[in-house]
Amino acid sequence: MKDLAAQLVLRKQQHLYRSRTILDSPQGVEVTVEGRRYLSFCSNDYLGLANHPEVVAAFHKGLDEWGAGSGAAHLVSGHSRVHHELEQQLADFTQRPRALLFSTGYMANLGVMAALLGHGDRVLGDRTNHASLLDAARLSGARLLRYRHADVADLSGRLDAATAGECLVATDGVFSMDGDVAPLAEIAALCAQHQAWCMVDDAHGLGVLGPGGRGSLHAAGLTHEQVPVLMGTLGKAFGTFGAFVAGSDALIETLIQQARTYIYTTATPAALASATLAALQRVRADDWRRAQLVTLVQQFRRGAAQLGLRLLASETPIQPLLVVDAEAALRMSAALREQGILVTAIRPPTVPAGSARLRITLSATHTEQQVEHLLGALEKVFATQNTEPEIR
Ligand SMILES: *Cc1c(COP(=O)(O)O)cnc(C)c1O
Repeated sequence: MKDLAAQLVLRKQQHLYRSRTILDSPQGVEVTVEGRRYLSFCSNDYLGLANHPEVVAAFHKGLDEWGAGSGAAHLVSGHSRVHHELEQQLADFTQRPRALLFSTGYMANLGVMAALLGHGDRVLGDRTNHASLLDAARLSGARLLRYRHADVADLSGRLDAATAGECLVATDGVFSMDGDVAPLAEIAALCAQHQAWCMVDDAHGLGVLGPGGRGSLHAAGLTHEQVPVLMGTLGKAFGTFGAFVAGSDALIETLIQQARTYIYTTATPAALASATLAALQRVRADDWRRAQLVTLVQQFRRGAAQLGLRLLASETPIQPLLVVDAEAALRMSAALREQGILVTAIRPPTVPAGSARLRITLSATHTEQQVEHLLGALEKVFATQNTEPEIR
């Protein structure tokens, strides 16, 4: 038996120990922690819907109508009318023939790959993909090859080295820790050329990018024929919880028959689907939220550039600042916290070694004054805490 306590001590010494901040308030741009109010720049609640009164009211109403628990898996007796309605609305929203709800995005990714692939098949994944896509490839039994981040030439070379069996190319639409958008049109074209599946995980694009918030595929003008598998999550811009896969009728039926993370798990509460339907209405209708995000992102980038901070090339609400190392990330996160600002230090293995960062995220419900306040705090903290990192 290995010595867990000793390993934990080591982890602390390496500044890789993780701990949880306990919120005493709902999610929002202002949160309470240990009796103190903080301005938060670290949630994925990009549109500010997690505590929106209409979404909360719909959840309450859903509870009255449907009770607390779903009581069974979807294929047994847990699939309610409101789950079904949400699937239809999500299909309509993404302009795809059908959609299928999963309990989480993690499970959706696992379910899709294991249903479509097996031994002798291949997954080509961006090196920066979300951990759940990596694990999905592993669980499927297919061989996983990782191409250089957003590098279409590297992907193309790997697709040329063809072998027998199915091939699936998987990418985040918007990369969760870098905030940049994948070269989706080029990837989709390569997939078509090589008859490979193209799968996009748009956890951070849906609701935020594209006309009507339809996500990074719509922003790139890509249809469900060009990108047959779209995975979207509901716990980020939608502000609720859960996930879905959208695609052809045959794809969705295959997942219902074969995706083990769909079949062998209890359906999420029906009331949650009621809440998500209300969130979807706001996502569709509130263009002002996306416009506000664009304004805030530009304001933040302008201000950070003036301060000489090292921004990544991101136009999305995910605005990471690279720092020297894991220790600096922790130190700066703590210094910001003293100033009343919550920003998470992201360290390996969540990001590659040598690329520790502060992952700053913006929400449509932030104000320009709040972003100004953040910039002021960053100026102070970076002036005293950081030493310039080597360019990666
Ligand atoms: C958050 C996230 C997931 C997982 O979704 P959950 O519903 O939180 O399990 C999958 N992929 C990406 C890119 C994510 O950011």
